[in-house]
Amino acid sequence: MSLLASLFRIVVLGLLVWLVGRLFRGLARAAPPTAGPRAASPTGTRAPGTPERLVRDPHCGVALPQSRAIAWNGEFFCSEACRSAHAAGAPAARRGAAPSA
Ligand SMILES: [Zn+2]
Repeated sequence: MSLLASLFRIVVLGLLVWLVGRLFRGLARAAPPTAGPRAASPTGTRAPGTPERLVRDPHCGVALPQSRAIAWNGEFFCSEACRSAHAAGAPAARRGAAPSA
């Protein structure tokens, strides 16, 4: 009988410890109402560090970040000069070997 009694005491003690631990954990979780993780800004701006999309200038062939490119007619240009030259129908910059007649 005394064995059963001590067993019972151990079980009750364990239950008590578990309960206290649970209570403390609950308190710790509920304590800081202002220290929650801040939600990302909802403005929809690109998160810093995100690699930017590169676009290619169809006129001179240079690649540059889209935010720094000049968008025109669904194409992206590195400079206003390239854009206007392309718009004017100027031939793209020659690439090396042009066999002369
Ligand atoms: Zn260009």
